[in-house]
Amino acid sequence: MPYHTIIVAVDNDDTSLEVCNRALDLANSCSARLHLIHVVEPLPPIAAPGVIGGAPFPPTPTDEEHQQSIDEANQQLSHHASTLGEIVSGYEVIESPNTRNTIHESAEAAGADLIIAGSHGRHGLSLFFSGSTANELLKDAPCDVLAVRIK
Ligand code: AMP
Repeated sequence: MPYHTIIVAVDNDDTSLEVCNRALDLANSCSARLHLIHVVEPLPPIAAPGVIGGAPFPPTPTDEEHQQSIDEANQQLSHHASTLGEIVSGYEVIESPNTRNTIHESAEAAGADLIIAGSHGRHGLSLFFSGSTANELLKDAPCDVLAVRIK
């Protein structure tokens, strides 16, 4: 059964092009549409920070820095969307503390039948410390999930 609607989880780094290009190839092969999504973590609630060496800890972005990261994410998705062309049905930057749930909800809302995300193939301690979004997306996924191996 061919895919119709594919959610592409786009991280704001230089690997996103690899993921988008793979999504484009697949979408072209089955006449599917792509929907791009990037999740931005909201600012943490204001708490009394500790101080290490005179600097607040943990370091917390200011409202301006946070807004800047949302603006940059929008610009990047807009750039990917225009590069990929008409195959893209839309893109969205969503503020949420939970990347997996947000991508799953977006897939359900769009009636998507596939989610595509990058996978760095981390294992051992590296996986333990930084986790894997692709692995997370597999859990309770509302549709198929494709992990694109990032070289
Ligand atoms: P990671 O396992 O965090 O290195 O990320 C692997 C892949 O998960 C990326 O290539 C993206 O496809 C997806 N991903 C990671 N973080 C986000 C995010 N904040 N928003 C959307 N997709 C993401």
